[in-house]
Amino acid sequence: MHCLGIESTAHTFGVGIATSDGEILANEKSMYTPEEGGIHPRKAAEHHYTEALNVYKKALAKAGLTPADIDAISFSQGPGMPPSLDVGAVFARSLAQKLDVPLYGVNHVIGHIEVGRLTTEADDPVVLFVSGGNSQVISYAGGKYRVFGETLDIAVGNALDKFARKLGIPHPGGPKVEELAEQGTELLEMSYTVKGMDFSFSGLVTEAERLYNQGASTEDVCFSFQEHAYAMLIEATERAIAHLEKDEVLLTGGVAANTRLQEMLTTMCSERDADAYTVPFEYAMDNGAMIAWLGIEEAQTRDPDPLENTVIDANWRPDQVDVTWR
Ligand code: ATP
Repeated sequence: MHCLGIESTAHTFGVGIATSDGEILANEKSMYTPEEGGIHPRKAAEHHYTEALNVYKKALAKAGLTPADIDAISFSQGPGMPPSLDVGAVFARSLAQKLDVPLYGVNHVIGHIEVGRLTTEADDPVVLFVSGGNSQVISYAGGKYRVFGETLDIAVGNALDKFARKLGIPHPGGPKVEELAEQGTELLEMSYTVKGMDFSFSGLVTEAERLYNQGASTEDVCFSFQEHAYAMLIEATERAIAHLEKDEVLLTGGVAANTRLQEMLTTMCSERDADAYTVPFEYAMDNGAMIAWLGIEEAQTRDPDPLENTVIDANWRPDQVDVTWR
């Protein structure tokens, strides 16, 4: 069975193709990059309208398939930015009707988790999902992916991007902040906000900007920002492992690319006799392959969605989904 998955929650329009044997045959994408400032939702949607057909054709060519070989379509139904989500939903509905195949609206966050379970050796991990739009500590319990901790305001990737913008670094700022942080030497005091299992990042952005305005070196501010932000995430993740008595952690989302975060996670896990896994970069960023693979899992265990159930849900939480495939 071949499932074609469509991802369009934010800046990336992606099309992936997965098989029921767990093979990823294609993972094509086109990313909207703002000329300045953050992601403008309407412009991201325009980008997706323009690129959708090209990315779809590239994915079929990469997989060596024709439209007639596609057995099911899945798409990111939420959470995400409504204008971007709408483009993916409309494209998926049209394609499913044209090819006369079943349609599955799937949860974007769970797509990140399931492709991580597919592409690493993690089986039943605590998941640290960190991207531009999300920061959550999630794990499977009682038939659902439960959120054990999450940001109380903005996502860590968004915090990095906001601060980077202040430094004149174009979107996405995370990689450049990482590069600058590697040259930092002094740990500056900043706010460290962990409340129970939750954390918060907007205060950190304000303080980093203040320190920068007061003349602290860019490298030291980036270094200190990373040390504080990632320590908060690791603290909540460690607590989740302890409470749930799990022995695996899966790091995913765009911020998973950060080597300092990976290092902190590895240290924490080794102290707890747990295994740390990082999703390969291609599948950690927003991508269509994760949606295709989740489509395969859902297609094998539940009925397709009738068209009237495929309206986007910008705030769809992973814990609202019944996990039928585990
Ligand atoms: P989602 O829709 O899942 O919330 P997203 O649209 O933000 O995701 P992703 O591709 O998952 O997209 O992640 C992009 C984020 O990852 C950006 O905030 C970017 O700055 C951050 N990022 C990428 N590389 C690094 C890095 N090396 N260090 C820190 N952050 C990084």
